[in-house]
Amino acid sequence: MQTLKSPIRADITTLPNYIGGEWVDDRDAEALPVLNPATGEAVAMVPLSGPEMVNRAARAAHEAFESWRSVPPIERARYMFPLRDLLLKHGEELARLVTTEHGKVLSDARGSVQRAIENVEVAAGIPTLMMGYGLENGAGRDIDEDAARRPLGVFACIAPFNFPLMVPFWFMPYAIATGNTFIIKPSEQVPLSQRLVFEMMEEIGLPPGVVNLVNGGRDTADALLDHPLVKGVSFVGSTPVARHIYARAAANGKRVQASGGAKNVIVVMPDAVMDKVIPNVINSAFGSSGQRCLAGSIIIPVGEAHGPVREALVASMDRIKVGNGLDPDVVMGPVISAAARDRILGAIRGGVSEGAELLVGGQPADVAGHEGGFFVQPTLFDGVRPGMKLATEEIFGPVLSMMPVATLDEAIRVIDESPYGNAASIFTESGGWAREFQMRVDVGNIGVNIGVAAPMAYFPFGGARQSFFGTQHGQGRDAVDFFTDRRVVIRRWFGGDRADARGHW
Ligand code: NAD
Repeated sequence: MQTLKSPIRADITTLPNYIGGEWVDDRDAEALPVLNPATGEAVAMVPLSGPEMVNRAARAAHEAFESWRSVPPIERARYMFPLRDLLLKHGEELARLVTTEHGKVLSDARGSVQRAIENVEVAAGIPTLMMGYGLENGAGRDIDEDAARRPLGVFACIAPFNFPLMVPFWFMPYAIATGNTFIIKPSEQVPLSQRLVFEMMEEIGLPPGVVNLVNGGRDTADALLDHPLVKGVSFVGSTPVARHIYARAAANGKRVQASGGAKNVIVVMPDAVMDKVIPNVINSAFGSSGQRCLAGSIIIPVGEAHGPVREALVASMDRIKVGNGLDPDVVMGPVISAAARDRILGAIRGGVSEGAELLVGGQPADVAGHEGGFFVQPTLFDGVRPGMKLATEEIFGPVLSMMPVATLDEAIRVIDESPYGNAASIFTESGGWAREFQMRVDVGNIGVNIGVAAPMAYFPFGGARQSFFGTQHGQGRDAVDFFTDRRVVIRRWFGGDRADARGHW
């Protein structure tokens, strides 16, 4: 591919879908503007495609499945190599698009491109990952038994706004490499980078219908959940929607893995190396404006850690420059929308009226030349207590709540009383405390001296309790399990006894 068509056009055209190997305009659908959150300006229009487009995509994917499933795994895996090359070649362009549609700073966007590439690399190993197992005489004398993995059919991904490029890559490379066909529905707030990804899909020459893109919102998602040809759904988003997706997909007999929201805790013990802790906490809480599912949202200094943590955080927050994520000096970009900004500011006001101490920020941020952007000041509270909304509700914005406690035991209790179980981190130099923490907290991703415990592509990405509904997570072997079924063959032969089989016919 020489040049990719930019999805951002001067005339603000409506983005197309990609179905059965063709770009398909949905002229009948209502369209929403896609806003650059740093400026508030529209950069494209996204169609809210309905059940008809979903049906077209599901049929195209179903038709493609019949021959795609029979392509040898090593040949399916070979599509991953040119896909990886294109993602690398156009990585900067993709990252800039992610920043434009989402607002996160360019370094974060580049990191998300890298994570997408790593999933493609892991899926390139599908012949090994997908192998089954067998046992000679496993079902009795002269009766062999083996289990082979098989693809199931059409799968769909319903994605959130906060990682526009990366999240579908937790699923798609594994789904298609194992022989399934796939439909992606990006978040209607951030559909631009997937548009570019599908140009790459076209370029690598996948058979028509193996991958499909349908733009839209909740009705599009529901049409996927209800379509009889869709065998399974991978969802990432907020907990109320995850619960809905899990129930509706399961009621329709589909496989489903649904990742939900989060309220992640960072515990700082008195022996932690403070000059390492603070940059990690700042990145965790305010990177991507707190709009990461692994973002630290509550910091719990234990005992004597409280004073130094409070002092160092206040001093460091001054250095978080807020602005357009494309500006290399900027540390924190906007939040996704005006509605998100207003909701976050509402949560901050609620925290003040609940009696928490507002130490830093708390207001919309003014960014010169970006008066239409959706900026919130990085915000720090102290004196947050268990039970306050600041401690229990997902804010998904740049707000860090400090909740000092006396013991590690109390800190672990705070984590376990939360309905969420996505991530938790401890900062300490004590192996004993770290192990105690690791063994007792019931979350999906645990960090020891790590602010954002994000699993690599060959480890499962998923949470616990109300942060995840399902059994297999995204990425790696879990994804291979999710996208395959095990079929058992038990085999014997009646053609003669063993002496005959040695050649005396
Ligand atoms: P969201 O739940 O509002 O939307 C996610 C997707 O669901 C979008 O594609 C949207 O179009 C669709 N959708 C929204 N409402 C729907 C409905 N009623 N019925 C059917 N579909 C619907 O989430 P979001 O605001 O885009 O993303 C932020 C959320 O995602 C946060 O809660 C964050 O914690 C979570 N998240 C979790 C993880 C994880 O791994 N656990 C990762 C990333 C984001």
